[in-house]
Amino acid sequence: MDDFYTKDEQKKVKLQLDKLIQTCVKCQTDENKNLITKAFKLADRAHKGIRRKSGEPYIFHPIAVARIAAEEIGLGTKGIAAALLHDVVEDTDYTVEDIEKMFNPKIASIVDGLTKLEGFFDQTESQQAENFRKLLLSMVEDVRVILIKLADRLHNMRTLDSMPENKRLKISGETLYIYAPLAHRLGLYAIKTELEDLSLKYEHPKIYEDINNKVVASSLKQLSLINKFSAPIKDRLAFEGYEFEIKGRPKSIYSIWSKMQKKNLPFEEIYDVQAIRVVFKPHLNTSEKAQCWSIYAMITDLYKPKPDRLRDWISVPKANGYEALHATFMSSSGVWVEVQVRSRRMDEIAEKGFAAHWKYKENSEKESELDNWLKRIRELLENPDDDSLEFLDDFKLNLFASEILTFTPKGERVVLPNGATALDFAFEIHSDLGYRCIGAKVNYKLVPLSHKLKAGDQVEILTSKKQKPKWEWFDFVTTAKAKTRIKEAFKKERKKLVRKGEKALENYLTKKKLTINSKILKKLQNHYNAKNKDELYFKIGKGIIELSDASKILSDKPYNKWVKYWRLSFGKGKNIKEDDDEQPEVDKKKPLLLTDDKEQHKYTISTCCHPIPGDDVIAYQDGNEKLVLHNRNCKVAIKLMSSHGDRIVSAHWESQKLLSYIARINITGIDSLGIVSKLTKVISDDGNVNMRSIHIESHDGIFEGSIYLYIHHTKDLNNLILRLMKIKGIHTVSRQERMNE
Ligand code: MN
Repeated sequence: MDDFYTKDEQKKVKLQLDKLIQTCVKCQTDENKNLITKAFKLADRAHKGIRRKSGEPYIFHPIAVARIAAEEIGLGTKGIAAALLHDVVEDTDYTVEDIEKMFNPKIASIVDGLTKLEGFFDQTESQQAENFRKLLLSMVEDVRVILIKLADRLHNMRTLDSMPENKRLKISGETLYIYAPLAHRLGLYAIKTELEDLSLKYEHPKIYEDINNKVVASSLKQLSLINKFSAPIKDRLAFEGYEFEIKGRPKSIYSIWSKMQKKNLPFEEIYDVQAIRVVFKPHLNTSEKAQCWSIYAMITDLYKPKPDRLRDWISVPKANGYEALHATFMSSSGVWVEVQVRSRRMDEIAEKGFAAHWKYKENSEKESELDNWLKRIRELLENPDDDSLEFLDDFKLNLFASEILTFTPKGERVVLPNGATALDFAFEIHSDLGYRCIGAKVNYKLVPLSHKLKAGDQVEILTSKKQKPKWEWFDFVTTAKAKTRIKEAFKKERKKLVRKGEKALENYLTKKKLTINSKILKKLQNHYNAKNKDELYFKIGKGIIELSDASKILSDKPYNKWVKYWRLSFGKGKNIKEDDDEQPEVDKKKPLLLTDDKEQHKYTISTCCHPIPGDDVIAYQDGNEKLVLHNRNCKVAIKLMSSHGDRIVSAHWESQKLLSYIARINITGIDSLGIVSKLTKVISDDGNVNMRSIHIESHDGIFEGSIYLYIHHTKDLNNLILRLMKIKGIHTVSRQERMNE
């Protein structure tokens, strides 16, 4: 190390590297230690002279990523070496070949996989989707690629503070859109949670802080409840000679927030749900499974279980490898408490996911679900000319879906996403079975193709040789595999018809002593309104175009050249005009200030989420350079942030007094005499809002209503909501985010 580092930095680098080697359980041989030191030295040389946005020397980043890979994911020596080298090929003059020569082919190929992924979201949408396919391909080849990518992303999220706001929003958006679901799917629960929490922190700083404060404030009360509930369990387990830990299950800030959103409930009602974990070291004489059940039985001696809330993830682990026994009991203080029983091995799999699986390889049968998932991705990737963008969407659906387990008539297990139909089941087994499927028997009862399956269903597929794929099938298939296969079938069918049409036209022209040339094709295309020659052939092949009419068209006057010229010059003129009209470029690095000044109104309010002043918003620059405002938690906005990060401009509201925005609130309560007039009085007394319309419906003594208002700022709306809540008989008042629902 030379004068690039300060003394302090030198010390820090050394310390971090020592810690890395120390904490890697699998790196303790001299050979492994040397490999890691060698990787560090190369990374250090390659990144020397470069500093991150925070001012730190760049090498801090690869070391931090390697430490996450070692400590939080549990990767071994090669993975850690690759993590240290992950930015070397991307950012410096070293090549993959250099790394292969200096290290070994495995490490080089992991680094290569990671290099292809860089800048993934900085490209056009279709390039991105294509790169995403590559990401998945390298993952299927070696899952360490995606694990290191997740470690990289986690460290970037942890150090996001030093980025400008538009970058922060873009990176948080991507994280929520694809990386957190991937972490979830790979069973990396802790990393998924942290990624989500950090995304929330940067997208909605105020909400994050607010929930965080409430969590901290109520943690003491929670702790005492947990202690009280678990005390007798502790005694009993100790009596039975178990080594164990009992801990509360921490609820992530993001999960609290998304529940509040989904169920429209306040923090207090979400947070009250209690859960604890019992993690034990199993006795050697009986199986872990039997011991989980016997611990469950011990707890039933102490508390009454809720009969319909028993989940056995041990006999049938989740697709990401998760194993545990979940049960719910009535505590002595009158609230339901969920108890999760796991062995230490199960707990490590739950926290570290896939990598922990490798460690327990002897127990190989349990791995098959994850292997199955990877196999399914491989199958999806086999079809290269499929529309990449659609593929990305389909794939994402599969990432989020929870899964159900179904069975073939022979009792073989078939894992499907929740909501899958009998037809999905058929395609899951074999594409030919899907193409020929006419119906199914579920638990011996005849059902249609669109029948939604439930966990535990036994499914027998009925086929017919005459069956063919149908367009309606897209309405109810849910798996990416089924969709891809059906599309494939239609593409094949179309290709056949194109060839048939081409042959037919050839034969027809031969009879007229003509051959196919571009002139003839142009003429026919123009007349039959076909975009290209394939479409023309297809229409002929399918019989939409009758060739007997064609002779008349072909004998018509030649193509009018003047028309062509006229079109050309017109087109040019129009282009020049458009250039004149162009909007001034927006500086994306600076946040957009949304003011009362009408002149500055270069933005419009999106129709999907109707943000109002005071909301956390972003601006999206559309194809016409117009800025559209969205709420940061709007589904459309999250997708835009991740897929068009370069078009995102951060935006903040300045004072808003002149312009009004529309908002809707929903009200429920007990129907009492004059409640409507009380409501309208409070609203009309409020100088800051104006009512546009009110709609109240009452039934069985209860009423529900919605009110549309013109307001200037969320503050005014919140004040009004507080005032309305005080009216006797009113139960809930809440703002509706999406007004079209
Ligand atoms: Mn990196």
